[in-house]
Amino acid sequence: RTVYLNGEFLPFDQARVPVMDRGFLFADGIYEVSAVLDGRLVDNAAHLARLDRSLGEIGIRNPHSAAEWERLETELVVKNGLSEGLVYMQVTRGVAERDFAFPAGDTPPTVVMFTQAKSILANPLAETGARVVTVEDLRWKRRDIKSVALLAQVLAKQAAAAAGVAEAWMVEDGAITEGSSSTAFVVTGDRRLVTRPLSTALLPGITRAAVMRLAAEADLRVEERLIPVTEAYAATEAFYTSASAFVMPVVSIDGRTIGEGRPGPLTRRLRELYLGMARHS
Ligand code: PMP
Repeated sequence: RTVYLNGEFLPFDQARVPVMDRGFLFADGIYEVSAVLDGRLVDNAAHLARLDRSLGEIGIRNPHSAAEWERLETELVVKNGLSEGLVYMQVTRGVAERDFAFPAGDTPPTVVMFTQAKSILANPLAETGARVVTVEDLRWKRRDIKSVALLAQVLAKQAAAAAGVAEAWMVEDGAITEGSSSTAFVVTGDRRLVTRPLSTALLPGITRAAVMRLAAEADLRVEERLIPVTEAYAATEAFYTSASAFVMPVVSIDGRTIGEGRPGPLTRRLRELYLGMARHS
């Protein structure tokens, strides 16, 4: 596998990041993940726009234009012969003697990219539906920034793994914020698609935005508001979205069966619509 590191394409085991990298010491960095389908990047312009915004919010200079990013990503996809999977991008504030405040302005950011082969379309979980558990949302107050500081999400996902389920939905003040690595949606009996409004409390999901654009085609009305956990338990359908899961049906939350315990028809329709969009992006 070839990885990209600071301007070079290298074999995986030759790519090295120094111990003093601020990503390693402080989680002082930003990441982004785009899906690849049929060798092509899905909705990549939106991911690169979010990367640029996240970097701006923490004062790291974006080392590349969107066009340069896309060219580098594409080159990596080609070098790795990736037809389906993910491209991971990370930018940290670079390497400097350990000190909390920013290093000198001429410190170059560390830029890393790698690919992961993964079946996104033929995901068996999408057929059976995923189970989720809720956990307390332990994160900081700027969750709109896609920071590499992911300890709370690591613990949330581990709680899911320990419970034998696929995802953890994080809860704050009785309402779902989002999944540990996904956006949470529920569908109500009157064909309303409910998801939390954007704020600093959650990441603005790129897949979320695409699904909201597609909702009308599934004859669903979008409602952006808080989702109390008790309401989620009673939803007719539920699902989560991310670049790597696309639209993933949820069939149980904290052991309570959602709908018929199978992926719901509106969720399946949204997944199909999203796949159609993704294939043509
Ligand atoms: N929320 C969180 C906390 C995430 O980590 C992710 C995955 N990056 C998402 C939502 C989904 O975002 P996207 O659809 O852009 O992958």
